[in-house]
Amino acid sequence: MFTDASFTAAKARLDVVLPGLGRDYAQRRNHDLGAADRSNVSALSPWIRNGVISERVVLETVLSVHSPADAGAFVSEVFWRSYFKGWLEHRPGVWEAYRTDVRALTSRLKQDAALRRDWQAAVSGTTGIDAFDHWARELVETGYLHNHARMWFASIWIFTLDLPWQLGADFFLRQLIDGDPASNTCSWRWVAGLHTQGKHYLARAENIERFTEGRFNPVGQLNESAAPLEESRHFDPVPLAWPDAVPLTGRVGLLLTCDSHDEGWPAAEPPASVLALAVPALRSPGRVSDAVIAFEQAALVGRADMFGQRARPVGLAPDTAGVLELVCNWVRAEALETVVLPYTTIGPVRDLVPDLVASLREAGVSISLPTRRHDRLSWPHASKGFFKLKREIPGILEALGQTF
Ligand SMILES: Cc1cc2nc3c(=O)[nH]c(=O)nc-3n(C[C@H](O)[C@H](O)[C@H](O)COP(=O)(O)OP(=O)(O)OC[C@H]3O[C@@H](n4cnc5c(N)ncnc54)[C@H](O)[C@@H]3O)c2cc1C
Repeated sequence: MFTDASFTAAKARLDVVLPGLGRDYAQRRNHDLGAADRSNVSALSPWIRNGVISERVVLETVLSVHSPADAGAFVSEVFWRSYFKGWLEHRPGVWEAYRTDVRALTSRLKQDAALRRDWQAAVSGTTGIDAFDHWARELVETGYLHNHARMWFASIWIFTLDLPWQLGADFFLRQLIDGDPASNTCSWRWVAGLHTQGKHYLARAENIERFTEGRFNPVGQLNESAAPLEESRHFDPVPLAWPDAVPLTGRVGLLLTCDSHDEGWPAAEPPASVLALAVPALRSPGRVSDAVIAFEQAALVGRADMFGQRARPVGLAPDTAGVLELVCNWVRAEALETVVLPYTTIGPVRDLVPDLVASLREAGVSISLPTRRHDRLSWPHASKGFFKLKREIPGILEALGQTF
């Protein structure tokens, strides 16, 4: 299903599902009909996550066909993405702690035979819980899971199989084509009861039976009474820091990554050069799936094409030093005086940005980090619960020139 990462493919998918994204979506979206039938959800997440199609274009298209009342459920789901993005921007410590934990747990897997055995059964789909095993294999085979299956899977991983949530989030990030540092980390924490403290999500056999329309019924196999997880660390929100806009002077290059969206190029002239920096290997210390790598790479090449630039994807699996060297070589070879790196949201690519900016400034290159209006309007309302942001959706859409 996700073999074509182009904007044309994203738009074609949107056109196919568009009639169903109103009232039908509200009524049917929670049903997981299986990999062969994704007609009740958009399945646009791989393109949205990789910056191929923006939330703005998706929302504009949906609201041009459906009334605000009918499209309400879908619009709200798209804003869940903005919410998690903004929430993590307020709490970079949550991402840092997750990364540290994944590194430590990945090392522990090598020494702790019992943990390795249970983890291996989970990721290879051999736990004996049919539904869970099916989703593990579906994820590896297709690079996608329905939202409800993600919730059940994460819940069973944490509360029935008793595995660390961070290893589950890592498995998802390595296999999901739409694997996103914010939506993924926050959703796993939400299921565990760490996002809204004390409120966890428990998968129940009866709910699985109902929403898979009888395909699975793991009665008696799930821990349906586990308590939420707790953590001793506390993550206070930090103020959002929007970088200053910098005038674009001289030869301008555009640096594209999957975590920096280029919507709204800030100049009349297209960039003199585009570097498509695909670094999917940074998602995890473990092995990232071939499908994730191929999609990210193709998505970035397609985005560069939109600027009339035929860029080859570079930097497939370099370490931090490798990325810095690549970018500095590009800047030198293209004799660039300004580099535009659209705001990079929290995640593995963002972890490189401070060193990147310092290296470029040292080389006398000016750097511009433009931000998106959608994010500037949404994120300030994403510091606590989703409903604070949800209240603001009509005003945000109006400010973006869309009626809701
Ligand atoms: C444990 C867990 C892990 C997840 N990991 C990711 C992830 O790595 N990347 C990711 O994009 N989503 C993630 N999600 C959220 C959600 O499951 C997917 O965005 C959604 O299933 C994608 O399918 P779709 O495009 O058909 O969604 P639709 O239902 O058609 O929704 C349209 C768009 O809205 C956004 N969206 C919808 N639901 C959510 C949600 N609950 N949270 C955030 N954004 C949402 C997505 O961009 C999606 O493409 C996760 C959810 C859970 C429970």
